Amino acid sequence: MEKNMYDLVIVGGGPAGLSAGIYAMRAAMNAVLVEKGMPGGQVALTKDVENYPGIEEVGGFELCEKFLNHAKRYNLEIRENEVARVEPGVDFHEVVLTDGTRLDTHAVILAAGGSARKLGVPGEMEQYGKGVSYCATCDGFFFRGKTVVVVGGGDTALEDALYLSKICKKVYLVHRREEFRGSRILQQRVFAEPRITLVLSSVLTNIAGNDQGVTGVTVQHVESGETRDIDTDGVFIFVGFRPNNMLVPAGVKMNAAGYVVTDEKCETSLPGIFAVGDLRQKYANQIVLAAADGCVAALAAAHFVEARKAQAGRK
Ligand code: NAP
Repeated sequence: MEKNMYDLVIVGGGPAGLSAGIYAMRAAMNAVLVEKGMPGGQVALTKDVENYPGIEEVGGFELCEKFLNHAKRYNLEIRENEVARVEPGVDFHEVVLTDGTRLDTHAVILAAGGSARKLGVPGEMEQYGKGVSYCATCDGFFFRGKTVVVVGGGDTALEDALYLSKICKKVYLVHRREEFRGSRILQQRVFAEPRITLVLSSVLTNIAGNDQGVTGVTVQHVESGETRDIDTDGVFIFVGFRPNNMLVPAGVKMNAAGYVVTDEKCETSLPGIFAVGDLRQKYANQIVLAAADGCVAALAAAHFVEARKAQAGRK
């Protein structure tokens, strides 16, 4: 079985992981980044990014390419492979890939991000890919000139409702409260968009469809209990996401919502294991914060590895 020894293994290739890779290479670490799919993470699925400082407007995919090319410029090794588990050790940690390869490493940066939360209503799974979607940038095009329902009240729901309103004939925005959680500027744009119809204090209770796809939804008012059917061709669900914490080894402290708890260096409760980006408990999840986490963790990991090596040399 293939065995390798690294200073640092980065698990995940979104902005946090790639930023960690850039900083690790600049710190002359022997680092590898493992990513099971295409590098870029959730941002690659985002249409436009308008809040990355210094870049006024950029496509999500294009921004990911910039991160990736930047990391490649420093010759960061990138393995397209899936991590099966992370085994913490005393002298070094092991990252085991699904093909059996074992990567021995002094430090690990967990950068696996998060994924879309499901609503859990009847019809959601049955119609997934046939009208139910969790990504407007990926699937919006299929609903050109049609009617869609968007569920949620955060930044993603508002941003993607606006995006869909440019493509679709009509967008119903269903939210369970009267107030939106999303930012003021997005709210103002949503209120000003005539193609968006707000359905507030309402929850989706059913998604109806047939072999051809989604045909409608049922919404229920949370106070009156009244239900109402809405004809629609698609349903876009943006009700938050869960951290991808399946690879977080036992012994690493997580909060009740499953986010990894770290110190200011992004180091977890296990020495030499760091967590960054959407996986880490913090005030907000933003690309700029994910990139910042990657920087902090790589600098701290470099320091950790140096100290480890110096200690080993003294033994
Ligand atoms: P979020 O902020 O957690 O919002 C989730 C929304 O879904 C909330 O409005 C919530 O309602 C609603 N919701 C949750 N569970 C629900 C359920 N079972 N039924 C109905 N509604 C439900 O998630 P997000 O919008 O994906 O954003 C995640 C993070 O990314 C945030 O920090 C956000 O600021 C950031 N983000 C930023 C940008 C940007 O700045 N360009 C773009 C996208 C995302 P309640 O409000 O009632 O809880």
